[in-house]
This record gives sequence, C-alpha cells and structure tokens, in this order.
Amino acid sequence: MLSRLSQISSKSLHTSRGVLGNQDTVKLWIDGHAVESKTNEWIDLTNPATNEVIARVPKATQSEMQAAVDSSKIAFDKWSRTSVISRVQTMFKLQELIKRDMKKLAANITKEQGKTLPDAEGDVMRGLQVVEHACGVPSLIQGESLSNVSRDMDTISYRTPLGVTAGICPFNFPAMIPLWMFPMALATGNTMVLKPSEQDPGAAMMLVELAKEAGVPDGCVNIIHGQHAAVNFICDNPDIRAISFVGADTAGKHIYERGAKTGKRVQSNMGAKNHGVIMPDANKEQTLNQLTAAAFGAAGQRCMALTTAILVGEARQWLPELVEKAKKLKVNAGWQPDTDIGPLISKQSKDRVLGIIKKANKEGAKVPLDGSNCVVKGFENGNFIGPTIISSVKSNMECYKEEIFGPVLVVMEVDTLDEAIEIINKNKYGNGTAIFTTSGNTARRFTHDADVGQVGINVPIPVPLPMFSFTGSRGSFHGDLNFYGKAGVQFFTQWKTVTQFWPADGAPVEARPQMAFPQLK
Ligand code: NAD
Repeated sequence: MLSRLSQISSKSLHTSRGVLGNQDTVKLWIDGHAVESKTNEWIDLTNPATNEVIARVPKATQSEMQAAVDSSKIAFDKWSRTSVISRVQTMFKLQELIKRDMKKLAANITKEQGKTLPDAEGDVMRGLQVVEHACGVPSLIQGESLSNVSRDMDTISYRTPLGVTAGICPFNFPAMIPLWMFPMALATGNTMVLKPSEQDPGAAMMLVELAKEAGVPDGCVNIIHGQHAAVNFICDNPDIRAISFVGADTAGKHIYERGAKTGKRVQSNMGAKNHGVIMPDANKEQTLNQLTAAAFGAAGQRCMALTTAILVGEARQWLPELVEKAKKLKVNAGWQPDTDIGPLISKQSKDRVLGIIKKANKEGAKVPLDGSNCVVKGFENGNFIGPTIISSVKSNMECYKEEIFGPVLVVMEVDTLDEAIEIINKNKYGNGTAIFTTSGNTARRFTHDADVGQVGINVPIPVPLPMFSFTGSRGSFHGDLNFYGKAGVQFFTQWKTVTQFWPADGAPVEARPQMAFPQLK
C-alpha cells in the first residue's frame, strides 16, 4: 500500500503551481499534496459566463483512486486516536483560514460555477457554519453511560469513528457542500475521500489546501476527480465505510443502492420541487420580494430554490406585480457589479431549461415573462437565461413535474389552503416548502399538514443552520441520518458499548461456571 502511495506522490507531485496547477490541469489531492493525474481522459472546465475553457479536470485512474483510499486508510489509524480536542483545534483554525480566504474562494466559485460574488460568499459562509458546528464535536459526540447496570457492573457507550468515508458533491454549491461533508467527518475522527463536481472542483481543492494549513494531517482528506467511474469506484471500494452524497436523483438513487450492496452507510440528498404558498393575508411587498429572490437567486440552481408559487384566492391578483419585479432583475456575469442572475452551469443545462419553457407553451401554460432569448452584452457565448415565469400551470405539465434548475418560476392558482397542501403532498419531493401569511393559525395548520421535511413560515429558503440538520424528506432524501446537526455526528460514528465488571473487595466468587445465559439482575 505504501509503495503505491509513494509511486504516485514522488513521480507526479506538483507543489509549486498550486492546487489548480498552471491554470491548465486541475490536480488530484493525494496524501496532502497536489498531484498531476496520469490519466488520458480529461473533462473541460468552462467559465459559464463565457464558455471559455479554464482548465481540464482529470478522470482519475483506478490506481490514483486506490492511492487516495490507501492514504485515507493509513491516516485513519493515527487520526482516529488523536484526541478529540486536538481534532477540533484544526477545525477552529480552518474556520479562521476560510474567513481569511473568503474573497478568493468566492472569486473561484463565480468563475467556475457562475453565481454572483455576494452569492458565492453566501455559499462559503453557509459551509463555514458547519465548520463552526464541527468545533462543538466534543459535546456532540458524547455517548451514554450507566453505573450499576448490575452488581459491580457499569456500561458505557462510546461514539466511535467509522474509518474511511467518502463525499460526492454536486456543482451548485462548490464550497458549502464539501464543507457539509469533510469537517464533520474529520472532527468525528474519520478520514475522507472527496469527489467534487467535475464541473467546478476549484473551491474544494482550495479548501483541502486550507485544511492542511490548519494542521489536518496528510491523508485525512484526499480528493479524486471524475464522473461515473469515480462514483462507482467509491461505491464498490471495500475500505470505504460510508458515503455522503448530494446531487440529482439518478446519481443519488444509484449510489444509495450500489453503496448499500457493499454494506456502506449512505446519506443521499437529492432533487427537489419546492412550493411557496402565498396566502391573500400575507404582507404583499415583502412576500413578492422574498419569492422573487428565492426563485431566481443563483439562477434557480439551488435545491431549496422556491420554484413553484401557489397563489391562493385573492393572491392570484399579485401575478402582474410579481412579473414586474422579476423583469427588473439584472442578468450578467457573476463578477459584474449589481448582477442578480448569473449564467447556468453549462450549455447542456441551458438547452434543457429552454426545452422545458418551450414545452410549457405547447402544453397550454402561459409565459408572461420569457427569458429564453436573453443575450448579455459582452458575454454573448454565456449560458444565460433571463428570469422566466410560467403561469396557469397544472400538475400534469412537464414544467411542474421536472426539477427545472434554472431561473424559472412556475405559478399555480388555487382557491383554498387545502388545495395547495394537496398539490404539495402529491409531489414526489419533500425538500422544502414555505408559506407566506400573517395568520398564526394558517401557518400552524400548514406546518403540520404539509408532508415536507423543511418548512418556512414567511421564510422562503428554510435551510436550517447546522445546530439543526438538513432534513429534506420523501423523494429528496434516501437514508436515515441527515447532514450536519446531531444526525451528522451520528452518521459519521458508530456505537461501541462496553460492559465492565469490577467486583468489590470481598464479593462472593461463583462456585462453578454458570451455564445459563446471564440474567444480570
Ligand atoms: P448530479 O447528480 O448530476 O451530480 C452530482 C455528483 O454525482 C457529481 O459529482 C457527478 O459527477 C456524479 N454523477 C452525476 N451523474 C451520475 C451518474 N449517473 N452516476 C454516477 N454519478 C453521477 O447533480 P448536479 O447536477 O451536480 O447538482 C444538481 C442537483 O443536486 C439538483 O438535482 C439539486 O436539487 C441537487 N442538490 C440537492 C441538494 C440537497 O441537499 N437535497 C443540495 C444541492 C443540490
């Protein structure tokens, strides 16, 4: 195992050019070093605002991926024995370094992912909060104990780390999602092999370099790149004990099933269709502003974007004002000042969204605001779509059934709250929902009757802070233990229960072996 690792490190080590290399190839991160891949399969990394190729991402070879696992396995032996206090010291330091490099990280995200600079800082910040949460692991990881469970006998349950774990990330939060994964894994004593999205791996590379600077020992986090083969390698590798996945349904279901076949614990956060219910008693101005931001922010490429508005009763009349607000949003490259909506991640993604808008027209929906022909001056090759509103939508239409993942708000109209709840509960997803109302009674009923894992009351994107867990449900989540919060600690640990018997001085000694199963009274 050691020789495989040293072969890879000594022959291909690139340290002087930094983790993104010569702006030419993205490196692997193996055993604490940036490593040039020996692969001959590469993926173009493009700037979504221009479609210029920024760099090439390797599809790591089998031996490189195995070297990453070997490195994590060796590191686990020492890291898992490192005191919890020392482990969290590295998290405190990591927190400080991420703050220091916030602007650099955000600039990289904007360049590779396309979102606006302030939104990219939000991406880093929401991940940073998980690092802060990981600093609390000494309290969170505590087990259970009971003295005198039987005569002279005590039982202690410890939460112990699993071993080598893996993280597989989507493109839409290049910093936040890796930070949902590796800090919790490390703080709880595990090591991790991380596979960032091949569409924007830069932020993850910068973060592991910061982890090294923070004192995380080499090998505790390794990064491999690639697509399906890398994912399948992770699912099948016998040394990997658990997989954290965030992404779309196809990959999420596949990983959940394939990972389970080799006995892995898997948490799989998947797609969404989030409904915002607008009651006629809501504060109109505030609600329309919140809805506009939650639907079109990040060009709609958030799993918690509020992509379906259900206007209840008189709130139907607010549609023209909603259209006016959306019309005013500025579409531009993410690094341009005052941009509201950046480009979509790829040309394929743009084409898919345009196809859905076109089909909505054919299916009988109305499109009072159509951003299909949006061209941004100076960025004519970018993957831009302007804010789009599709109204008079019925639940059998494709624009309702599909997760669009673009700056497109689908609008439905109903007479009552009950009808709105029925639509929501019939939808296969359960990631998030929100209601806008001034009535506590309405809010309370909605809270209890909507079968969705994360509910906002006048909060359009109810992503819980990490002292709680991210609790998407039904079709949006496979697994039992959610990301971060207490569940995150549980996901990355297993119980070890010790029962110990220390007979008091003078306690009677059994005269002969007691052959019946001990009753322990
Ligand atoms: P994706 O599923 O295409 O990619 C995610 C990861 O899986 C990537 O690393 C990719 O390389 C890999 N992958 C993709 N297709 C695969 C396949 N067929 N087999 C094996 N591996 C595969 O997702 P994406 O487009 O990068 O991200 C957007 C999706 O992620 C949306 O559906 C969004 O709702 C979801 N998402 C969910 C959450 C959540 O917490 N529920 C958060 C963010 C994003």
